Amino acid sequence: MHSSLYSTKHECLLCGDVITNPICFTCLESEVEEWLSSRMPKMIPKLKKTGGMFASYTHQGTRCILCGNNMNVCTHCYCYEVNKLFENYPRLTEEFVEFFNFELRGSSHLIAPQ
Ligand SMILES: [Zn+2]
Ligand SMILES: [Zn+2]
Repeated sequence: MHSSLYSTKHECLLCGDVITNPICFTCLESEVEEWLSSRMPKMIPKLKKTGGMFASYTHQGTRCILCGNNMNVCTHCYCYEVNKLFENYPRLTEEFVEFFNFELRGSSHLIAPQ
């Protein structure tokens, strides 16, 4: 439930957190894709599929600081979904969390591998 009092703040449609660091999933996806192409290229189609799930969340909201596209899902939610792709690959999960640490810092969604 969104209060009109907060209409000037942009909240993530999935988790409801205020989006403080607006980077859209397409910008993140290209970074993840670059990383995966050197690590496990066969995962890239799965990454694209995850991106497709977020494609319907690109109207209204706030603007990505990198490309200027509309976005209304936070980076945490996207990274959380992408992280699920690697659940059978603990080493990739570890690298992903490390590599994208700057996005994930402060997120309670992700549980780093032991
Ligand atoms: Zn979110
Ligand atoms: Zn962007």
